Amino acid sequence: MKIAVTGGKGGTGKSTVASSLAMEFAGSKKTMLVDADVECPNDHLLLSVKRKKYCNVYQPIPKWDFSKCTKCGKCASICKQNAIVFVEGKYPAFVKEVCIGCKACMVACPTQAISMSKKQIGTIYIGKNYNIDLITGELKLGELASGEIVAELRKHADEINEKLKQEIVIIDSAAGIGCPVIASLVGTDYIVGVTEPTPSALHDLKRVLYLANHFKIKHGIVINKFDLEKSFCKKIENFAQKNKIPIIGKIPYRKDFIDSMIKMKPVVEINPEYKKVFERIIKQIN
Ligand code: SF4
Ligand code: SF4
Repeated sequence: MKIAVTGGKGGTGKSTVASSLAMEFAGSKKTMLVDADVECPNDHLLLSVKRKKYCNVYQPIPKWDFSKCTKCGKCASICKQNAIVFVEGKYPAFVKEVCIGCKACMVACPTQAISMSKKQIGTIYIGKNYNIDLITGELKLGELASGEIVAELRKHADEINEKLKQEIVIIDSAAGIGCPVIASLVGTDYIVGVTEPTPSALHDLKRVLYLANHFKIKHGIVINKFDLEKSFCKKIENFAQKNKIPIIGKIPYRKDFIDSMIKMKPVVEINPEYKKVFERIIKQIN
């Protein structure tokens, strides 16, 4: 079973929920956690996993053979990323940091002066602790193509899984609803939408659940820090009831969650009381 943990707004506690669910599942099932929040992966910190490099992730980039270039400027005008700067009478200049490797410039060049090379855009790491196999992707500083890293990460997670035969795969997605999130949700059996009682979190949750509906994936809501603003929590419950979405968990706001991050230990180890909360969530997912 593949479970995505997402939520739209950053800071709602997706990683805490994903790692705690992985801890709970790992007690009885072979479990893998995929940290797809590639711009800021932190599941290895929450689970004290010592990561080791698995592979690099590359992206295609154009390479020019100026002996064939007629300085027509077509490559620059087709590049939607503005990664090619063209000045009349000069050879095109390339800003590789903003190139996303779409190859449009290569196709547009009338003299085949452009071929493809590659650049490293990130790294995939693996590790294990608490009986959880962790695979995590990390985007290189300054690079933009986080969706590519997530797609590669999912591919490698599937490859590793063919050997390990994990029963549960939990995917901790990035914030937002863009490319990296869509790449995290595709092919999953259940989406856990983590939110908190604030207007912006509910707004983003609705957008994420729109995606869940679009992909026809079963889903439920976890309200994190629910006791911070009980009246707004009620608004989330009303929204869920109106849209027939189950609230599968409510997590209180306690200092234990901060201690968990500071001590780099799962919250259920800091305070075993939380086991019940995550056990309840799992029961409703199954
Ligand atoms: S590969 Fe795409 S993004 Fe990169 S320079 Fe060419 S057209 Fe621009
Ligand atoms: S499209 Fe080809 S020929 Fe035209 S400027 Fe670009 S590289 Fe040169």
